Amino acid sequence: MKPNLLLNNIRRRVDELNKCVNCGLCQAVCPTYITEGYEGKTARGKIELLKGLLNNTIEPSVALADVFDDCLTCYACQSVCPAGVRTERLWTSAREDLAEFASSIMKKRRALNWTIGKQRLFKFYVRNYGLFFGFNPAYPERTKMVRYGLPVFRGAPYLRRLPEVIEPAKKTVGAVGLLIGCSGNLSAPWAVDAAIKLLTSAGLRVIIPKSQGCCGAPAINNGYWSLACRLALKTIDLFESLDIDYITSPDATCTAAMQNDYGEIFYDDDDVMKRWRVLRLKVRQMSGIIAEALNDGRLRFKSDGRRIALHDSCHNTHLGEPGRWREILSALDNIRIVEMPNAALCCGFGGSYAVFHPGTSELIAQKKIADASQTDADTLLVGSPGCQIRLNSVAAQKIQVKLALELLTELCTT
Ligand code: SF4
Ligand code: SF4
Repeated sequence: MKPNLLLNNIRRRVDELNKCVNCGLCQAVCPTYITEGYEGKTARGKIELLKGLLNNTIEPSVALADVFDDCLTCYACQSVCPAGVRTERLWTSAREDLAEFASSIMKKRRALNWTIGKQRLFKFYVRNYGLFFGFNPAYPERTKMVRYGLPVFRGAPYLRRLPEVIEPAKKTVGAVGLLIGCSGNLSAPWAVDAAIKLLTSAGLRVIIPKSQGCCGAPAINNGYWSLACRLALKTIDLFESLDIDYITSPDATCTAAMQNDYGEIFYDDDDVMKRWRVLRLKVRQMSGIIAEALNDGRLRFKSDGRRIALHDSCHNTHLGEPGRWREILSALDNIRIVEMPNAALCCGFGGSYAVFHPGTSELIAQKKIADASQTDADTLLVGSPGCQIRLNSVAAQKIQVKLALELLTELCTT
C-alpha cells in the first residue's frame, strides 16, 4: 500500500465495520444492488472490501474507489441494519480516504463540488456541462434529465431576488433562518417560495442571509472534506450570528447535513464541534416545523380530494430528523394517502449521482414511477426538490410528481 494512504477516516470507524454480522438484510433495500445485482455494492459487500483494505488483503485501486462512488448515499442500508452499522460514517470516509484513486467520473464530481462553493462558477459549469456533456448521445438517460432540469438554471441566482427579512402576516411567534440551498438558489426556486409562504403563515419571521452559500453536503458526500469543512464552517458562522429560533431549508438534504454530517467532518476539532452541537439544536426539517404549527392551530389547510402516494425521500427517512409528511397529510380531511410499494426506496437522484451514473439513476427512477403508477394515486408526493426533478424527467403522463411543500402551499388557508 502507498505509504501516504493512511486510511485514517476508515480506521477511525473500524468499530462500525466490526458491528456487521453479515445477515445480508441490506441487500433487499439497496437501489444499486436491485438495479445492478452486484453484491460488492451492497453495504455488506462494501464493508468486506473495507476490512480487506485495512488488513492489506485488498489493494487500493481505481476500481475499488469506483465501488464507493457507485452508491447513492441514500442510507437505506443503515435503516434496516439490525446490528446498527452507521453506514453514513463509512461511505463518505471511504471516498475521502480513496480520493487519490479517483476515476475520471469521480474527478468530475469533485470538480462540480468545487464550483458549488463558488455559485456563479457553478451555474456556468452546469450550463456548459449540459451543453458539452448533458446532450452526449452516448448517454440518452442523462440527456433526458438534463433537458428537463437545465431550463431552471436560466436567470439570476434566486438568492439575489429575495428580500433578507420577510415578516409574517399575523402575530410573530419566532424567527427562522432559511438556508435556501444550491437547489433553491439555482434550480428549484419554487421550493423556496413554498417554504417562505408556509413559515410566514405559521407566524415566523423568515431571515434569508444574503451571504449564505452551499452548506457543504455535496462535498461531504463525495469525500471532499477540506472543501466541505470550509463551506460548513461558513454556514455555522453565519447562522450563529443571527437572532433566530430555528434554522431550516426547503431542501431536506441541507437540513440533514447541518443536523448530522457536520459531526463527521469536524470530529477532530473540539471548538467547532462544541459550536455545532449548540447550533444544531435549532436545526429543524420543514415538515417538523409545519407539523407543530398545524398541531397548535397556527397553520390550517383545506383539502382537495387527492389520492396521494408518498415517496419517503432519503433525507426525510434514513438520516436526521424523520419527515412528518404522513402525519400532516393524515390530519387533512378528504385527502387519502395511498401506500405504494417500496416507498422508502431512493428515487435515483442522489445529488450528482444522477448526472454521473445516469443509466442506473434512470432505472431506479423508472422503478419508483412504476411502483407509484400501480396504485390508484393521482399524485406522487416527494420531500426534496432533487427527487422531484429526477422523477419528473421520467414520469411522462403516468402520475403527477409534486413537492410536499408546494402542495401544502396550495392547500394553506391561514
Ligand atoms: S447507501 Fe444506499 S446505495 Fe449505498 S449501499 Fe446503502 S442502500 Fe446501497
Ligand atoms: S444489514 Fe447490517 S449487519 Fe446485515 S449485512 Fe448489512 S451491514 Fe451487515
